Amino acid sequence: MKIFVCIKQVPDPNTTVSKLDPATKRLVRTGVSLVLDPGDESTISAAIKLRDTLGNSEVVAVSMGPEKAQEGMRRALAMGADRAILVTDPALAGSDAISTARVLAAVLKKESADLIFCSTESTDGYTGMVPGGIAEFLNLPQLTFAREIKVESSKAVIKRVTPTGYKTVEAALPALVTIASGSFEAIYPTMKGIMGAKKKSFSQLKLADLAIDAAQVGEAGARERVLTIGSAEARAAGQIVKDDGNAAQHIADFLQKQKLI
Ligand SMILES: Cc1cc2nc3c(=O)[nH]c(=O)nc-3n(C[C@H](O)[C@H](O)[C@H](O)COP(=O)(O)OP(=O)(O)OC[C@H]3O[C@@H](n4cnc5c(N)ncnc54)[C@H](O)[C@@H]3O)c2cc1C
Repeated sequence: MKIFVCIKQVPDPNTTVSKLDPATKRLVRTGVSLVLDPGDESTISAAIKLRDTLGNSEVVAVSMGPEKAQEGMRRALAMGADRAILVTDPALAGSDAISTARVLAAVLKKESADLIFCSTESTDGYTGMVPGGIAEFLNLPQLTFAREIKVESSKAVIKRVTPTGYKTVEAALPALVTIASGSFEAIYPTMKGIMGAKKKSFSQLKLADLAIDAAQVGEAGARERVLTIGSAEARAAGQIVKDDGNAAQHIADFLQKQKLI
């Protein structure tokens, strides 16, 4: 079975103070290190776990991003993915979620994917639109918020997270599944995995390889555009109550004054 995982590179949440460029109104990426989206690490692990259960299958990591997205993809290979495909092209800069879905769908169609894994949302743009967009472009069923997944007689079967527990939902393959965040423990790359990743196949594609017209993606094809950017209002400092034995009364008075009790 050909299992594909769509993974995204995001500015390193631990090191980056996101700055927006007032001219382009886009994230300043120079000097910013990109890492594999932490949410996608759990999704890659879900795909690897299923591959190992099924046998005779492969896990392919797919990403659309700048050249330096390679580092994050090498991590996916070190975690255990079998090969990786990066779509990178200057014309993709400024792509909105629908353009991203269009490009990823073109790769997945070219590769005849049997099962596609995505996380429910990324940790930077977090529109949550890409998985549904891919399923739409490929006319595939989408099973969302999976916390468990198995494959039985050419069907994908998931346990879908619900407010009260879960539902079992199934769809015929090929299909797309989104993994609910935190549902699968992320595999930690071993030294053997890191060394082995260097030998694994890593291909790079550009728009021409996918017969996608540059006018449909990037800044040129974006259906949405940022008009203005502004910084969030500073929140007023809260009131600090020192417990001099009357803290409870102070809090009750405060809540009453706010007409909350
Ligand atoms: C702060 C910010 C705000 C944005 N706001 C918007 C907006 O309002 N509308 C809009 O159309 N675009 C917006 N974008 C652009 C959008 O983030 C990109 O188009 C992005 O590539 C896809 O959207 P997402 O991160 O929201 O993905 P989501 O749909 O949240 O991502 C869900 C999953 O889809 C897969 N996936 C997403 N992107 C990729 C990728 N590049 N390669 C491989 N797999 C991927 C991953 O599995 C990911 O976990 C915004 C970007 C930023 C940084």
